Amino acid sequence: MYLKAINLKGFKSFPDRTRLTFSPGVSVIVGPNGSGKSNITDAVLWALGEQSPTAIRGQQMRDVIFAGGNGQSPRRFAEVEVVIDNSEGRAASEFSEISISRRIERNGDGEYRLNGARCRLVDIVEALSDTNMGREMHSVISQGRVEAIVNSKPRERRMLIEEAAGLGKHRKRRHRAQLKLERTRQN
Ligand code: ATP
Repeated sequence: MYLKAINLKGFKSFPDRTRLTFSPGVSVIVGPNGSGKSNITDAVLWALGEQSPTAIRGQQMRDVIFAGGNGQSPRRFAEVEVVIDNSEGRAASEFSEISISRRIERNGDGEYRLNGARCRLVDIVEALSDTNMGREMHSVISQGRVEAIVNSKPRERRMLIEEAAGLGKHRKRRHRAQLKLERTRQN
């Protein structure tokens, strides 16, 4: 399973439709400071359902929409599509290729799509749940985070490694079960 392509339009420093394609293995994006390299990882995080604007270096979600510059006018919406190869069938989908896209308008309206069909965020979380990708999976680690991980306390680092290994899902399940038990006990 690997990231096959990213399509951006109106997202941060990408006002016009931009397609980046990747093959299996290591890919490197090179560019001068401030040229938009981190905006690409922000785009991946965002399309996979990131809910915190600060995690993608903004104050509000609509900050991701191209704000104008270099003689180009601001855009009305931002759209990112992430295409993931699923030929080994790891993700819960019958498709050999999964397309996840997210869009936001200036008025705050937004939508998610899974292989072209409109869906809810939970559908995306569900589709990615066995892939170790998506929110809180640490499949994207940004610049500052590397230092934070190296300097973190063993307890925090353990938490992170466990989440990356897919244990977070089970921990959440256990938490839900404990809440349910507690409700039952009170009843
Ligand atoms: P560094 O090397 O410092 O990590 P980088 O190559 O990763 O930089 P980014 O931080 O991804 O660069 O990109 C920053 C650029 O993106 C800045 O020029 C900023 O003006 C531009 N940018 C971010 N958000 C928007 C937006 N909404 N509209 C227009 N431009 C934006």
